[in-house]
Amino acid sequence: MKKYTISVISGDGIGPEVVNSAISCIDAVSHKFNFSIKWEKVPAGEEALNEYGSLLPEETLTSIKKNKVALKGPITTPLGKGFRSVNVDLRKKLELFANLRPSKNIPGVKSRFSNVNLIVIRENTEDLYSGIEFKDTSQLSKKLIHLVENNSSLKIPKGSAIALKTISKSATKRIAEFAFLYAQKNKRKKITIIHKSNILKYTDGLFVSESENVSKKFNSIICDNLVVDNACSKLVSRPELFDILLCPNLYGDIISDLCSGLVGGLGVSPSANIGNKAAVFEPVHGSAPKHSGLNDVNPSAAILSGAMLLNHLNQTAASKALELAVYSVLKEKTHVTYDINPKAPASTTEMTNAIIQKIKKVKK
Ligand code: NAD
Repeated sequence: MKKYTISVISGDGIGPEVVNSAISCIDAVSHKFNFSIKWEKVPAGEEALNEYGSLLPEETLTSIKKNKVALKGPITTPLGKGFRSVNVDLRKKLELFANLRPSKNIPGVKSRFSNVNLIVIRENTEDLYSGIEFKDTSQLSKKLIHLVENNSSLKIPKGSAIALKTISKSATKRIAEFAFLYAQKNKRKKITIIHKSNILKYTDGLFVSESENVSKKFNSIICDNLVVDNACSKLVSRPELFDILLCPNLYGDIISDLCSGLVGGLGVSPSANIGNKAAVFEPVHGSAPKHSGLNDVNPSAAILSGAMLLNHLNQTAASKALELAVYSVLKEKTHVTYDINPKAPASTTEMTNAIIQKIKKVKK
């Protein structure tokens, strides 16, 4: 019997509730498909801060590097205390350069659109998001303004705060190759490169040209490109036209949330952060502190993240079975949480148990 060890970050707020649900469902499906998972719980977030004085202790990174795969719950970002986001830190320290966010219609989940089945693949390491930002009063801002004005005809208002947008050939090639290989493996037909290269000729221009270079090696996959504002307009009018959207970091952040909204929201949106050395799977939603301990939130996003994790481990049949079990419970609407059926909501535990019952009935 194949055995895996997977790191688990339970997270804050509703994190432990939805992560425990996901673990129970993954255990049920692994039993059915003859493999086993040892879950290695590691600290991060508020609990880790109290115990280890760090939101992301070294032992957590060591565990994920060793096991190469982790399931993660959402983590509260403490406000106004100068802490960096654990999520940004994890991505940087584990070089998780690709963020994957599928958005598709699920029967039973109310949505304005039908036939949506798209995936946002977002570059995770650079762009305006790389955190190269200088305060309006800093010496570096002043020096940068001086440098630009002395070496070009460009003008920057004095006292400006400045952020740098960096797009490199190497990071673009890496994410584009990831996207095309993903499309090939998952039988996707089209990749649309999202950009604003009419204005940002050098940065977004490089993102487009380098991605198009990579596309030449993948003749069977259609590659086109779309300016980000036009893409947003099309997404909220005809989202069924899209297949894979390949985005630089900032547009990807915004567009992926927009796409979650297209298909019914946070309770059912899974995600993955993938690098060459490790991969971390997590629901898109946050720690929803108001719901913490109430046993009332939807575990689907965490469980579907678990299905993505199983697919990553090449346990394709188990991944599909887990996904279908979630879809089947959502479609029946008799054991679903408040966000899906506000009139007769089930608890997180009841919904999880209904999904486990479906898994037990799977015919292999
Ligand atoms: P949130 O996603 O936690 O909650 C917003 C609202 O969405 C909730 O009040 C709830 O009504 C609903 N919701 C969220 N998850 C749900 C679920 N599974 N089922 C049903 N309803 C659900 O967003 P927020 O309130 O902006 O953020 C709270 C905290 O989470 C913040 O500290 C934020 O930084 C953090 N956060 C963490 C992550 C992460 O770790 N990946 C992601 C987003 C936000």
